[in-house]
Amino acid sequence: MLFAVSSMAAAEVKYVFFFLGDGMSTSQIQTTEAAMATAYAKSSNQSLGPEAGDLDAQYLLNAAAHLRFTQFPIMGMQTTYDAYSLNTDSASAGTAFACGIKTKSGMINMSPDQKEQYKSVAQLAHERGMKVGILTSVSIDHATPASYYASAASRSYYNSIGTQLANSGYEFFGGGGFVSPQKAEKSGDTNNDVYALLAQNGYTVLNDRSSILNLKTNPKSKVVAINPWLQDSSALPYHLDKVYYDNGNKNLTLSEMTAVAIANLEALDRKEGGKGFFIMVEGGKIDWACHANDAMAAMVDVTDFDAAVGQAIDFYNKHPNETLIVVTGDHETGGMSVGHATTAYKAYYDKMFGQKATFQYFTDNQWKAHKAKYATGYDYTRSDNLASNAEMVALLKDVFGLDYSSLNDYQKERLEDAYDQSMTGKNSNNNAANKLLYGGYEPITVTITHILNEIGGIGWTSYSHTGQPVPLFAKGENADTFVGFYDNTDIAKKLASVMGIAQSLPVLK
Ligand SMILES: [Zn+2]
Repeated sequence: MLFAVSSMAAAEVKYVFFFLGDGMSTSQIQTTEAAMATAYAKSSNQSLGPEAGDLDAQYLLNAAAHLRFTQFPIMGMQTTYDAYSLNTDSASAGTAFACGIKTKSGMINMSPDQKEQYKSVAQLAHERGMKVGILTSVSIDHATPASYYASAASRSYYNSIGTQLANSGYEFFGGGGFVSPQKAEKSGDTNNDVYALLAQNGYTVLNDRSSILNLKTNPKSKVVAINPWLQDSSALPYHLDKVYYDNGNKNLTLSEMTAVAIANLEALDRKEGGKGFFIMVEGGKIDWACHANDAMAAMVDVTDFDAAVGQAIDFYNKHPNETLIVVTGDHETGGMSVGHATTAYKAYYDKMFGQKATFQYFTDNQWKAHKAKYATGYDYTRSDNLASNAEMVALLKDVFGLDYSSLNDYQKERLEDAYDQSMTGKNSNNNAANKLLYGGYEPITVTITHILNEIGGIGWTSYSHTGQPVPLFAKGENADTFVGFYDNTDIAKKLASVMGIAQSLPVLK
């Protein structure tokens, strides 16, 4: 009897999912649902509202306009600042979620003075016999996934992070590849052969669609599943670009990768242990799209992230009393606003639907080819370089759905300045103006998305993260643990408690 009392605490949850939309806060969620409402109305040939620019509430309220996770019964809200900054980065936010401590931006699972290293909830769950899966749409050694298996003074010590991944013993890694698997790219990092270490430690590395999907019926005890085609920085491609990279259906979405991880880990757990699993899934490119101020790229990636949540919901429906699903973001990115001065109380999301590729795909492909063709002899002092270039005017229309002749003079002027800057690195603006207008991105591309987004009714105030609190959604066993307004460090403690981890966080390594 006494024995039973000592292990009484809250019922442990056997299967725990933690979904993290990087850079996803209320603006990213509401704009995506508004886009879904618009698409739903248009698909059934209904007018959007009584006047142009209206969006009738009946569409926003319709189930077709709802992300799966916003329908969860439990909601919380978290503050996101880190040890020294109101605006956290993904490394310090990841540390908060994984270890329950505040550290400084750029650092993973260490105290700001680098004297202490901490264990993550994933490591603690693994130590008590749970299987662990870490998935992301960006590189698998990126700051957010790294927070679950590594400690690093800098998030850019990719080789050291990859080395710690290979030594983690976790059962499943999936998503993008490694940034520096062979050697250090930055001084202070290590120089290990990560692939050799993975092989030595018994990992199978897969990077083709059929053998990754095959894990659903033939699970492996330790696996790293990497998407065949990687876009920027060893990441999965943006979901909006799927039509270009996925000729022949050779790739996997984050959602498909999540389904593979669930099946693989459940089968493995049934065979050995029966202690359940902890799966972390990051939608990492929502953040990258928002850094670049590309709303369509962000919104479409939010829907792919939501589809991954759908895989966990399917699992929950089979194991409702043993499963918990938590969905949140690590911070807002871009200072995205639901509304813009250009459109005031109106919104024209349908005008953004003409965008056929992300800023990244356009910059890497159409823009690159265009620049190579027209850069020679370019005179940036002319005021009509873009207006007089028929190919560029056609690209605006074909890739972004922007009709040049319908733009106002201020929008045309910004496009001319950006075009000059992208073509020659020079324009008539001063440096301060260029910094504010382009934020280090390809000037023409970021100007196109700014104009397209403001026409739709979405604004941007930053190219970085902002400090607004982030909502959290929970469903399943012990979901009510996540009710309320709390700090991001509390999330690690709540996760540890629902997984029956005996130690109280933070736990030193
Ligand atoms: Zn970011």
